[in-house]
Amino acid sequence: MSEYECSYCGDSFDNEDELEYLEHLKENHYDDLGRIDKKHIRQHSGIRLSKDPTQKDLIVQTGIILAGLAGTVGLAVFVFVL
Ligand SMILES: [Zn+2]
Repeated sequence: MSEYECSYCGDSFDNEDELEYLEHLKENHYDDLGRIDKKHIRQHSGIRLSKDPTQKDLIVQTGIILAGLAGTVGLAVFVFVL
């Protein structure tokens, strides 16, 4: 399967565009959706709205902490050797 096909109107979406597909379902067919589909959409909207940026921040913060730690240890070793 290389693409999503809307089971309500037959529109197709690229494989990478699951969010676009879910968006389409939400915009055009929300009232026809089953409970599971609605839950799926809510979960994905939640991820896009809040979880993604938080995860990126966490990665950046971890990188900064690790870089700071490496710098401190490097400096300590440098001073100690001299
Ligand atoms: Zn559709």
